[in-house]
Amino acid sequence: MNKLDTALVTSALQEAGFSLSESIKEAGIVLINTCSVREHAEQRVLSHLGHLKHMKKSRPDLVVGVIGCMAQRLGDKLLEHEAVNIVCGPAEIPQISELIAKAVQDRQKTLAVTEKIRRKGSQQQRRALEKFESAYGIEDERIGGQAFVRVMRGCNNFCSYCVVPYVRGPEVSRSPEAIIEQIRKLADHGVKQITLLGQTVNSYKCKHGGRTWCLADLLEAAGDIAGIEWLRFVTSYPSEEFFDQIMQVMAGSPKVCEYLHIPAQSGSDRILSAMNRNYASRWYLELLNRAREIVPGISIAGDLIVGFPGETEEDFQATVNLLEKARYKNAFIFKYSPRPGTTSDRRLEDTVPGEIKQRRNVELLAVQEKISDELSRQFLGEQVQVLVEGLSKKPHLDSAEAHGNPQLVSRTATDYIVVFNGPESLAGQFVKVKIVKTSPLTLFGRLV
Ligand code: SAH
Ligand code: SF4
Repeated sequence: MNKLDTALVTSALQEAGFSLSESIKEAGIVLINTCSVREHAEQRVLSHLGHLKHMKKSRPDLVVGVIGCMAQRLGDKLLEHEAVNIVCGPAEIPQISELIAKAVQDRQKTLAVTEKIRRKGSQQQRRALEKFESAYGIEDERIGGQAFVRVMRGCNNFCSYCVVPYVRGPEVSRSPEAIIEQIRKLADHGVKQITLLGQTVNSYKCKHGGRTWCLADLLEAAGDIAGIEWLRFVTSYPSEEFFDQIMQVMAGSPKVCEYLHIPAQSGSDRILSAMNRNYASRWYLELLNRAREIVPGISIAGDLIVGFPGETEEDFQATVNLLEKARYKNAFIFKYSPRPGTTSDRRLEDTVPGEIKQRRNVELLAVQEKISDELSRQFLGEQVQVLVEGLSKKPHLDSAEAHGNPQLVSRTATDYIVVFNGPESLAGQFVKVKIVKTSPLTLFGRLV
């Protein structure tokens, strides 16, 4: 979601005549897009701001803006920071170029956050967001041939640990007309893969043309657009509603990637209930089975939180059991981080000590690593189709085999990362790669 917001803000600012600078030393304006999901992310922003404060001593004209969830969460408290000129929440980003122009001209601090964030925004605000979204929804040029499209804003789920509903506001599904039109425009620009975004993307629901559209309908309509080859969607909430329909479209449409990111968060029913997640671990595992029955080649990923208030060794073991049974392709594992204002922070004490959170985190990672390794090994000797993203950041392969080509990073439809040597011009293209080596999180191959 933040990558998309960054791409939208970048395009809007380019449209307004600004240009993107490669280095902070050359920049006249620095914008930091922020996340509030865990405290660690916010601390990193504060540390950047510390550096910027220092820089501003010798460059007093430097304009610093903080945008995104932390801006919305902290508002004027953040504006008090010596380094900060602009604070702009996620629902206010359509104003960003005006805010910058004002900050440059008037040299005054400006705040644009949404008051009463849990209320449905005014029509004017929603229209502005919609216009901003569809006008600038062009390709993120850093990843060739790919783009994100938001299908919903906000969240109504209120998982007790989560800050998202308080900073991104209530759940609103965008109209299918606007979404399809935007995808068509992206396809005209050469985009081949679209990732539909929503905090609970599988609950997408919108009345249009006398019927209610769900995510399955959107995927079908997007699949009919010429030029679009792959469609993905993140993140799904474990829920019965629309589930089979979505899985059936995935099974039936060659364009819908066989990949599902569906966080469990915990394997303990007691903890799930305290988290306000509306399901039990057994039911969740049955849901995964159903996905695998309907879409036999599907790969599934999940998120888990360790050290939620009151999590006992027994609760943690239930999470280990769930992880063993879920057979995720990969799992994102987080240590519980109390977020101010959330229900769990207001009502529960952060009782699990840091070192126990750390130990549980490491233990889960080890369980997952073994599963990921087993699943990856199945690809050895196989040919896979991938969409090339671009140059690989890390050198992975034996350079003797490179024949002067750099290392590229790519992904399969099932979201496996594949690294191989090839010309950079392949970025944004589909190619076939034969897998010659595997590791838990990466496959290595040769261009066929
Ligand atoms: N809407 C998505 C993702 C929300 S944030 C979903 O519901 O799946 C991404 C992940 O961060 C969550 O899945 C959760 O595992 C983790 N997370 C959210 N709040 C957290 C917190 N307070 N502490 C630790 N992890 C958290
Ligand atoms: Fe947060 Fe839960 Fe909403 Fe995901 S579904 S954004 S975890 S409140």
